[in-house]
Amino acid sequence: MIYDFSTAVLNWFDIHGRKNLPWQQNKTRYSVWVSEVMLQQTQVSTVIPYFETFMKKFPTVVDLANAKQDAVLHLWTGLGYYARARNLHKAAQKVRDEFSGEFPDSFEDVLSLPGIGRSTAAAILSLADNQAYAILDGNVKRVLARYLAVEGWPGNKKVEDSMWEMAESLKPRVRFGDYTQAIMDLGATLCTRSKPNCDMCPVQTHCLAYAQGRQAELPHKKPKKQIPTKTTRMLIPFYQGSVLMHKRPSSGIWGGLWGFYESDKESFESVKDLPDDLAIMEADSESLLQTQILPEFTHTFSHFHLQITPILLLVDGQHSNVGKQPDGAIKELQGIYEKLWFNIHSGPDVGLAAPTVKILKQLQAMY
Ligand code: SF4
Repeated sequence: MIYDFSTAVLNWFDIHGRKNLPWQQNKTRYSVWVSEVMLQQTQVSTVIPYFETFMKKFPTVVDLANAKQDAVLHLWTGLGYYARARNLHKAAQKVRDEFSGEFPDSFEDVLSLPGIGRSTAAAILSLADNQAYAILDGNVKRVLARYLAVEGWPGNKKVEDSMWEMAESLKPRVRFGDYTQAIMDLGATLCTRSKPNCDMCPVQTHCLAYAQGRQAELPHKKPKKQIPTKTTRMLIPFYQGSVLMHKRPSSGIWGGLWGFYESDKESFESVKDLPDDLAIMEADSESLLQTQILPEFTHTFSHFHLQITPILLLVDGQHSNVGKQPDGAIKELQGIYEKLWFNIHSGPDVGLAAPTVKILKQLQAMY
């Protein structure tokens, strides 16, 4: 017998598929729709009691449309993702007002309802009416990504488009509703996220992930975003075991913490190369600066890497306008001064960003 994906899946479903779920009895487009929405992001066992109560309270789409939103949300309490319930209610009102209270049977009309995407519309029409639509929900994406060893993250538009083509090409010529249920069951019970049960799988003989031993790798995960790298130079005036730091503005990165002045200049040959705020030396602007570059390191934020080059400025005195770290009186002085000399060994009693701590530790080891 010639192997055929959908036939293998349907044969397996006839023996092992789930057929006694409450939404599989007396199916209507309305009841299938409610179950499909509840099943998004929620497990079957959790959904069952919610579905039964919901259908008792709102047996028809018009009952749902006429209900108060509070009553709908009340029956949803505990299911989470409440936008689903709000959309369900809105869609029911649209059905009542624009489709004479009859849940539509054309794909375009179903797709026009709030909260219904291509896969949900296809599931409703194939499961309830045996219409010839393929679905591509999370379970099916996992099965197909493994079965056909699909490269790329299925959430990517291009990958998803090609998977829709695969889903359409694999569907059977008959029994569309059973096939939709079958492939969902296969994904939920055998081709599970971790430890798929390939030994029991009806399509194992033609599964590329199985043949290549790539079940754990596929489907590919969402790629981590590339974040940019910025660079900065931290200027550290250093005099007799003390460093000059300033309090950063209260907003922005490291807001309100103490740290070193930053500059994007490449060389600091004389005092005039320093930022204005760092006019700390008594010397004139033509004075040469003695500098020492410390090992560069990278600090990572959620949205960028910051490559930091610490540069020691070996100065020959502390400007009289800048406060010194006094024993015991530091807190008082913080209110007065925006910049202070801190002794590197006594550990400043202020908020410091991680890179500042790192640089101070390095200096403690050196001096
Ligand atoms: S053989 Fe394994 S990986 Fe392939 S479809 Fe079946 S359960 Fe999934």
